[in-house]
Amino acid sequence: MTEDAERQARLAWFEQTCSNLHERLSPLTEGKPASYIPELATVDPDRFAIAAVTTDGEHIQVGDHGDAFTIQSISKLLLYGLALETHGREHVLERVGVAPTGDSFNAIVLDDEMNRAPNPMVNAGAIAVTDLVVGDGLDERVEEVRSMYERYLGRRPEIDRAVWESERATGNRNRAIAYLMLSRGIIRDRVEETLDLYFAQCSVLVTADDLATIGATIANHGVHPETGEQVVRSEVTRDLLTVALTCGMYDYAGEWAFSVGIPAKSGVGGGIVGILPGVGGLAVFSPRLDGHGNSVRGLRVFEELSQEFEMHLFHPDRPWRRAD
Ligand code: GLU
Repeated sequence: MTEDAERQARLAWFEQTCSNLHERLSPLTEGKPASYIPELATVDPDRFAIAAVTTDGEHIQVGDHGDAFTIQSISKLLLYGLALETHGREHVLERVGVAPTGDSFNAIVLDDEMNRAPNPMVNAGAIAVTDLVVGDGLDERVEEVRSMYERYLGRRPEIDRAVWESERATGNRNRAIAYLMLSRGIIRDRVEETLDLYFAQCSVLVTADDLATIGATIANHGVHPETGEQVVRSEVTRDLLTVALTCGMYDYAGEWAFSVGIPAKSGVGGGIVGILPGVGGLAVFSPRLDGHGNSVRGLRVFEELSQEFEMHLFHPDRPWRRAD
């Protein structure tokens, strides 16, 4: 078999495995969609999609892969990249560290010793990173974030206004975190505007296929597999992959690294994106969440695919890794 035929055969095998998993896990109805943001509870809980995009732009799509949902915390990864690109590591590290917390994503906890947010994947860190988005006023800053998304998605993203409004109306815990950071001098005195921007970036609508494309872009040294654009600098992708592996899956990150071993980020909208460096992005969407805030079916899909295809980053053979 030629190398190309072998690749196609492996992709077909992968696609078939995803289809089988989708069928087998569809009856799994454990967990509940997030409801602390009231609008998120209105989602159809049965929706279920698996998508993958390779670094050379092949798409695998199973189930409701074209259905849109809000990106939520997965935005934290992209915004961290934007902050690193705009301000450089040193400036960002003064405000946000890289230590996993073991606390829930919305814990009101700061790194007291360093006077900074613990890491960019928990709400405190993400709000501090959002504070760093440049622009004069909310509209300009929303535009800055939107155009970042546009580079990742290859199209201009929509914001779910109802979710945005719902977060704004109920996000008092995030408000508490933000004002605490203001009182410590970690963020600037434009808290309501920064929170509004944070809620907006969480309310961006994506599909599972979009998430897989984002993953493939980061996996591809920051180059979008289809547009060819350098979306984020290669050295920044290293930092993104590191925090995704250590802090990306809420307070389940350690178990995830152990059992799945793929840098990933999840969101309370039910999405999970996994990034296989040099190979591609893998995404699942299913809104029923476990107690950590991770999609129940999503975890199962990643666990099983990682096993079956030996995707763990530290797997001795990593057969999917292409020779660079
Ligand atoms: N907008 C959500 C919040 O701030 C994001 C949470 C998440 O997806 O983890 O609570």
